[in-house]
Amino acid sequence: MSTPGTREMPVRNPRTGQDDYLIHPLDAAQLAGLAGRLRQAQPAWAAAGVAHRAQVLRQWVGLLAADPAPVVDALSIDTGRYRLAASEMQSLRGLVEGYAGMASALLAPAAERASVVPGIGIDTGLVPYQLVGVISPWNFPFLISMLDAIPALMAGCAVIVKPSEVTPRFIAPLMESVRRVPELAGVLAVIEGDGASGAALIEQVDIICFTGSVATGRKVGEACAKNFIPSCLELGGKDPAIVLASADPAQAARVVLRASVQATGQACQSLERVYVQRPIYEPFMAALTAAARGTELNYPDMHAGQVGPLIFARQAAIIEAQLAEARARGARVLTGGEIEHHGGGSWLRPTVVADVSPDMQLMSEETFGPVVPVMPFDDIDEAVRLANDSRYGLSAAVFGAEAEARAVAARLDAGAISINDGGLTTEAFDAEKNSFKLSGMGPSRMGSSGLMRFLRKRAILIQRGRAKVMEDLDERGGRPAN
Ligand code: NAD
Repeated sequence: MSTPGTREMPVRNPRTGQDDYLIHPLDAAQLAGLAGRLRQAQPAWAAAGVAHRAQVLRQWVGLLAADPAPVVDALSIDTGRYRLAASEMQSLRGLVEGYAGMASALLAPAAERASVVPGIGIDTGLVPYQLVGVISPWNFPFLISMLDAIPALMAGCAVIVKPSEVTPRFIAPLMESVRRVPELAGVLAVIEGDGASGAALIEQVDIICFTGSVATGRKVGEACAKNFIPSCLELGGKDPAIVLASADPAQAARVVLRASVQATGQACQSLERVYVQRPIYEPFMAALTAAARGTELNYPDMHAGQVGPLIFARQAAIIEAQLAEARARGARVLTGGEIEHHGGGSWLRPTVVADVSPDMQLMSEETFGPVVPVMPFDDIDEAVRLANDSRYGLSAAVFGAEAEARAVAARLDAGAISINDGGLTTEAFDAEKNSFKLSGMGPSRMGSSGLMRFLRKRAILIQRGRAKVMEDLDERGGRPAN
């Protein structure tokens, strides 16, 4: 265990606006010391085998499940919402069981095989990176940290996680639980810190898993490239939804609203722009605005309503600026539309916007708020062109008759397309996908490659035939016959 750093950073409470918590980022020497200790423990962790690692992780999950309140309560203060905080924690068991289930087969030693070159045997082994660095964002502070940490641990790596400085309260109780499983405490550390701490972490590890904005992802990718270490980058999105005339407009509207507004729109895979085929545009908009008006803020009671506060103070200003630009250019805000300040926090009711155009920021830049801008379209080619006209390519959704929707999905430049739903990647962790364009780089974080990206292949090549000797290099032997 490392002692806290001497630097102090205040942390804002999203429901009160008050700085009511302090974090103590490690200094560079402390971080190096921690990395050294984890590196020392890693070989035994890797040698213990998958079944043992799964058992240690299950023991930890059991401890957390028996007493979730300290972590869930801290996470709910971090994010200003309760139900999602509890579900972030509950997802840990599924992650551990999912990777435990696939790891024994994926990591089983492969039998030696004969090379296509006669006489040579090939024995391929898997070697985990010794120390993995995970840098995570503030929108799902626990879940996104664990999405990378659990498969890395299961692969046999040691892991340092550096969550966002915006939402760090869950770290102390989480590490309290880790310390109750000493073997795990030897190979897993979750540390407090800011961007400088993230940058310092890159200097200590063998591979980085980063989730966050494109701007920071670019810096992280560059720093990793300088150090010759791989970076797995999961970045922003501007996910489109295409609603075909063959969809049920009322049902599609309800699902689109949920997938846009879930977590107050502070989710990378939020539906942030909606294209609706003209024959059902009017009923879709009627159902969407009615459903949006029916939602409530989770204020003053955190355990009521569906819409939590905006977690990050600066995000409110970004959303306001995008809405102002859209309004100035003729967009009509049909519901919500004003940031509301209650008790020191900032909330935004689901904001449905009509009469938008593709060049508005609201339709092109990540909003990260509960805003649903909607545009009608006439033919499918136009919808596909509008959806693909983006620097992002994280995910998308298509609503309609399944065969037609699947045909449209196959034309979209995005790594995951939900059919008749939105954001299914957050439910199906076993669907492999890549992030297209500026939405990311590196292997799939989901499915078996989510585990395999932490392992390098090491080939042992055995010569069973005749090994070449110096005479084989003699130029006279290479003279063409004439
Ligand atoms: P951010 O980029 O501001 O910060 C992310 C993390 O990077 C934080 O822990 C921060 O401390 C750290 N950091 C900052 N500067 C750094 C540096 N120079 N070197 C190393 N680390 C540094 O992102 P955010 O505002 O916390 O998160 C919101 C963004 O995350 C949105 O763009 C969202 O779309 C994206 N996101 C993507 C996914 C995905 O899976 N693709 C999931 C969730 C969020």
